[in-house]
Amino acid sequence: MHRTIAIAGGGHAAGRAVRVLRDEGFDGRILVVGEERDPPYERPALSKEFLRGDHGLDKCLINAADVYGDGRTELLLGSRVSAIDARDRRLITDGGKAVAFDALLIATGTRARTLDGVPVDGEVVHTLRSAADALRLRPFLRPGARVVLIGGGFIGLEVAASARTLGCEVTVLEAAPALLARVVGGAAIGRHVEALHRAQGVTVKTGVRIDRLEVRCDGATVHGADGTRIEADVLVVGVGAVPNAEVAAAAGLECNDGIVVDGRGRTSVEGIYAVGDVARHPSAFHGRSIRLETWDNAERQTAVACRAMLGREERYDAVPWMWTDQFGMNLQMLGLPGPCEAEVVRGDPASGRFITLALNSGRVTSAVLVNMGRERRPLTGLMERGVPVTPAELADESIPLRNLVQRAAG
Ligand SMILES: Cc1cc2nc3c(=O)[nH]c(=O)nc-3n(C[C@H](O)[C@H](O)[C@H](O)COP(=O)(O)OP(=O)(O)OC[C@H]3O[C@@H](n4cnc5c(N)ncnc54)[C@H](O)[C@@H]3O)c2cc1C
Repeated sequence: MHRTIAIAGGGHAAGRAVRVLRDEGFDGRILVVGEERDPPYERPALSKEFLRGDHGLDKCLINAADVYGDGRTELLLGSRVSAIDARDRRLITDGGKAVAFDALLIATGTRARTLDGVPVDGEVVHTLRSAADALRLRPFLRPGARVVLIGGGFIGLEVAASARTLGCEVTVLEAAPALLARVVGGAAIGRHVEALHRAQGVTVKTGVRIDRLEVRCDGATVHGADGTRIEADVLVVGVGAVPNAEVAAAAGLECNDGIVVDGRGRTSVEGIYAVGDVARHPSAFHGRSIRLETWDNAERQTAVACRAMLGREERYDAVPWMWTDQFGMNLQMLGLPGPCEAEVVRGDPASGRFITLALNSGRVTSAVLVNMGRERRPLTGLMERGVPVTPAELADESIPLRNLVQRAAG
């Protein structure tokens, strides 16, 4: 049994790990080394309720304060892990402190990708990853402020919706021909989301080529390759995230767009585990290795890895799930998009409630649910069990999805 488990990173997965380890009966020392000053919190509200000022960070905290106050758990916050000494089993912090461990969980997450030559100053140019980022951005989202989002992915669109709700003049610039193209695949969902944003007064431009960004101390001008100019008081860059895997790579752990782990969260070095946004794990469901940047993955992969640290055998192979909320629309995604043999739409997109499904070899491999969250469970069942279905059955709303799952079971 390990005596000290160190956790590198103090975000969602770290907070979850502390709770799971204690729930599973680990009574040794847990030491969390986290770069941020806040105790572990969940991030989804940062681009939504928290950004709009509807609630504080207290609502996002993963554990009550007493979880860290048991005398055996230590939070070393505002402290960055600068090196991992895998052989001597210790972490080195940027303050020069050495932390010995018996087992290590790396949960360093991702950081916002930035644009070359456009430094994030937290005044005119922003990214959104942490509560501190949201607090820096919030005062600029005043009614009438011209807010330009570079990138029409989930976080960019959530910020667009929040900024518009606060009365800003919002423009979303997306390089791809459709919004969300990279994350949901296909253009139908992107078109639906675009229409929603336009109806709320957001200006959406797709297929945009940015020639140059001119950033001044009081605003910025976006120069399009087609000669257009867009003036902004605030620019929010939402062009994806980069895994914080450099320290792990320098320690000799196998990395490939993230830290490579197995189904139990084990890295290539014994006794060192990785979870959450930074970890790349094998997915039997998708037949390849994947790295997920989702709340659900931070929850479930962490639970499996923590149990593995305590010697319990379990494999993490969940159907990926994530959601986004924009202007009252709830969109959920199951599975990752990819090439598919058939696409089915269940329900009428004009009603604002529908599901798009991708099929391969007669099975659902990914789905996007728009305001249809109640269908997530049966759909997950269909996908997890690999239930054979036809496009006609899926498109027929008179056949409840749960019947298709039950039919397979019985
Ligand atoms: C604005 C926003 C909105 C989101 N909304 C949704 C949503 O609606 N639905 C959904 O499914 N998912 C959402 N997510 C994704 C979800 O929050 C992440 O997948 C989840 O936070 C990942 O947890 P993690 O612990 O791996 O990483 P994080 O929560 O990012 O935690 C990593 C922590 O490690 C710290 N760190 C990094 N390097 C070091 C180091 N060397 N030393 C010490 N500490 C370090 C970081 O500062 C950070 O605190 C959202 C994410 C963001 C940013």
